[in-house]
Amino acid sequence: MEEKGAFDRLGLDPALVRAVEALGYEAPTPIQREAIPPILQGRDVIGTAQTGSGKTAAFLLPILQRLMKQPAGKTRALILSPTRELAAQIETALRHLAKGTRVRGHAVYGGVGMVPQERALRGGVDVVVATPGRLLDHMGRQNADFRGLQVLVLDEADRMLDMGFLPDVQRIVQTLPRNRQTLLFGATMPPEIEALSRSIMRNPARIAVSPPHRPPPTIRHEAFPVPQHLKTALLARLLGREDMLSVLVFVRTKRRADRVARQIAQERFPVARIHGDRSQSQRETALEGFRNGRHQVLIATDVAARGIDVEGISHVINYDVPYVPTDYVHRVGRTARAEAEGEAITFVSPEEESDLRAIEKVVGRSIPRVTLPDFDYRAPPPPRPRRQEGSRGPRPRPGARGRDRRSHTFRRR
Ligand code: AMP
Repeated sequence: MEEKGAFDRLGLDPALVRAVEALGYEAPTPIQREAIPPILQGRDVIGTAQTGSGKTAAFLLPILQRLMKQPAGKTRALILSPTRELAAQIETALRHLAKGTRVRGHAVYGGVGMVPQERALRGGVDVVVATPGRLLDHMGRQNADFRGLQVLVLDEADRMLDMGFLPDVQRIVQTLPRNRQTLLFGATMPPEIEALSRSIMRNPARIAVSPPHRPPPTIRHEAFPVPQHLKTALLARLLGREDMLSVLVFVRTKRRADRVARQIAQERFPVARIHGDRSQSQRETALEGFRNGRHQVLIATDVAARGIDVEGISHVINYDVPYVPTDYVHRVGRTARAEAEGEAITFVSPEEESDLRAIEKVVGRSIPRVTLPDFDYRAPPPPRPRRQEGSRGPRPRPGARGRDRRSHTFRRR
């Protein structure tokens, strides 16, 4: 089971661990867990992983660790990406992850002016994130100097192949120092990419993150579109439903877990919370209260998700849409255990729609959108919540206690 601190157990510098924590990541994803140690050792790595698996941080973190200890002034890492969008995303991720370091990156792609890119390249920016065509333009003008290059990343190599960029990639790679670390990622590894890897890599470690298992077919999935500021009100409304006997609510960060738990307690629902900042005994007490029916609701972050094994969870509610589609599968897998039926509800704010679509792709089905007819979706943001948690004590809810009532909803097949 993943625990808080799992990032520093991968051997990452404290500054980088702080950066991932600031992003709200609590535990490494499988590709991060498997790829970071060999990359830190300096090995070449071929990683088979989808977008959404967390692969960007899997290669950026060890690159940052390597570069942060060295003097600046030369471009030492080059990341090639098939599209501008991906290059821009990688550059953004780099900026966030590099916060506690002096390492800087610049994105180099077409459709925007050459001059800032030229300046960055000529200034020897530490990390260049580039699409092949635009980079070749710059190389043709002698703007880029890769003599000090130590790490090359080919991201989404299979897409570069599909888009016809392989000859460009090969032209670029030929100009790079041979003594370097090469990392190659793709959702698939077609023979052309295998052949490329043999010609440009040395004894690579191979890492494949299997596509996630689909959630059990006995789960019903629903998405509730709702503005961000009305999520708690919607949660309270749903928790009042008769069938909401034992509800596991997932939120993205520890702070949000604390806030939502406080607000739900104020609405007098019996609630406990579990996340990486809580002590082992606090977690156990929370889980036990949830297991025995004293708490109708358990608010959790993903770090807790994989360890929770409670029978008879009637509903999993995703208060936030998980960034990583596989987290959705892990989360909703907490309900409908052992062939029982369960329901997975996801709150989706307008800005989270694209994350939900990524999840639909991974789970291989579309999730119906549901609106509550008597819920005021146009209500303005509520006043700031009061501080004291559960000051009035939880309201005992009929039907929320004990196992007996629960077994009615969990019809075993
Ligand atoms: P990627 O596969 O690199 O495109 O990452 C997909 C998304 O997952 C991005 O929005 C990342 O910010 C997010 N992400 C990456 N690593 C983690 C992690 N360990 N925990 C939570 N989210 C993550």
